[in-house]
Amino acid sequence: MASPTSPTAYINCPHCAGRMRTYGHVMFSALTKQLVAACQNPDCLFSARVGIEITQQLQPSLCPNPDIAAALTR
Ligand SMILES: [Zn+2]
Repeated sequence: MASPTSPTAYINCPHCAGRMRTYGHVMFSALTKQLVAACQNPDCLFSARVGIEITQQLQPSLCPNPDIAAALTR
């Protein structure tokens, strides 16, 4: 289980289970972005595009953006 104080998520390589480094964040919208993840294992070197999407709100914002609130309650 991840520590609640851990500031970032990380991605494990699906091939060798090594830690992947992420870079090249591209924002597609306020709710989706894409980045590139590269395996740090020198014997693997797999890299891939990774999509991140906010799919469901758990706690509504106290300062909601109306467009985002509408998108998340569709
Ligand atoms: Zn790997």
